[in-house]
Amino acid sequence: MSVDFGLLRTLHRMHRQLADIDQRLRKGPLQVKIATQNEASFAGELDATKLRQKENRLATDRKQMTMNERDAKVQDMQAKLNAAGSNKEFQLLKDRIAADQQASSVLADEIFEMLERQDKIDADVVVATENLEKSKIDKKRITEKVTLEMKALRVERQRIAEELAESEKKLPMDVKTDYRRRADAKGEDALAETDAITCGNCQVHLTAQMKASLLMKQILFCQGCGALYYLKEGVTAY
Ligand SMILES: [Zn+2]
Repeated sequence: MSVDFGLLRTLHRMHRQLADIDQRLRKGPLQVKIATQNEASFAGELDATKLRQKENRLATDRKQMTMNERDAKVQDMQAKLNAAGSNKEFQLLKDRIAADQQASSVLADEIFEMLERQDKIDADVVVATENLEKSKIDKKRITEKVTLEMKALRVERQRIAEELAESEKKLPMDVKTDYRRRADAKGEDALAETDAITCGNCQVHLTAQMKASLLMKQILFCQGCGALYYLKEGVTAY
């Protein structure tokens, strides 16, 4: 029984369109997933930066408090200096005051550095907040875009699938079962165009007998990939 290669070509085109749509349908949620991951990542970064901000602030406050306590102690000792009962006591107090003042000076430097760091962290928080806001807007935009695209693609897919089912009815009875099995398993690879020399899917070479069969429009499956052949347009006996 002969087969209409034009019909097979049409079926193949529809299978390809469906495969292309399916690929785009898979890509859509992936884009949303990436945008969601980006947002989560920026949210995590903001949390971490805010934590650093809080820790640095607390550490600065603690050092500030230590310095205040030491300064108060120094003032206290300075008041006691005049009331010192002996030279030894006077000298001892003077040494302690000098040591505490030295420690305070080191602490003051440290506090200054921490305040500088605080400015930097505060700026980081602003940037991280902006990044998170931007990623939220991006996710919303991408989600809306993908939702619309997916909706349109599903409508398109439905239309092509219906057209395909309609066209498949025109297949000769004796090829329907074999075609169905291949189409269900391999989709677009169920069919292959051939120039009667090699298979368009797997490049396996055709025998002279196969070529002759094709030129007589006979049903033929590829020995390499199992696809149902249709002859390329314009290929005739030569
Ligand atoms: Zn093949």
